[in-house]
Amino acid sequence: MTKKGKHSLKIGWLYPDLMSTYGDRGNVMILRKRCEWREIMVEVTGITLGTDSTEIDSVDLLFMGGAQDRQQEIVKKDLIGGKEGFLRRAIEDGTPGLFVCGAYQFLGAYYIAADGTKIEGLGIYDLVTRTPGRLAKRLIGDIIIRPRIEGLEELFVVGFENHGGRTELGKGLAPFADVVHGYGNNGTDRTEGVVYKNTIGTYLHGPILSKNPELADYLIRRALEIKYGGAPVLEPIEASWEREARDTVIGRYIR
Ligand code: GLN
Repeated sequence: MTKKGKHSLKIGWLYPDLMSTYGDRGNVMILRKRCEWREIMVEVTGITLGTDSTEIDSVDLLFMGGAQDRQQEIVKKDLIGGKEGFLRRAIEDGTPGLFVCGAYQFLGAYYIAADGTKIEGLGIYDLVTRTPGRLAKRLIGDIIIRPRIEGLEELFVVGFENHGGRTELGKGLAPFADVVHGYGNNGTDRTEGVVYKNTIGTYLHGPILSKNPELADYLIRRALEIKYGGAPVLEPIEASWEREARDTVIGRYIR
């Protein structure tokens, strides 16, 4: 068990004011609460337009939510204007993170928006995302996936997706999960998201961590492991409401 009061984590929340659709901010609340309940000290720092890029160097766990195409354009300019190198180094050096929807698309090579505009990504993930035109069907609805992450394979993770972009992973990349119900990366190959180093990219809003606390704990454990070494064991937290919420969604589609 982690020793009470002995550990602390700093969460870097990228663009809280621009990238947080469909309850994505709830993910940061969940990370904070699940740490606090175990007496792991938490600091959340918002990193947005005007924040010094070096702030990224100081964080133990990264989070960035989704957005519409307009916000993605604004954030792209800011990243390219300075933060890009810091974010790339943090991810490549193994800082754990969760990147949802628009944020996930950003870490790829490019995103083609519904009006055909090409938004260059950071190219950290070897993937591309294309929206097949204004009239293309958006991929919307409840989604159920099974993670390919060690220790979480038995879990049914539930969330909500709403994206026009279709993502194709490069050959060397492993998806985060297999789709049981819903669309995932592109609606055709049954893959969902990506795992790269210690980060997860995913289309699941929801917010994903409130409905799937095991995933929140996975990220917290990884962050503690990177910061303090060893194999941290987290005190269990009662989660019957979360399980009930998840079972309701699962029961609706697959049982
Ligand atoms: N604009 C992107 C798309 O529609 C991302 C949307 C989102 O983050 N919900 O594909």
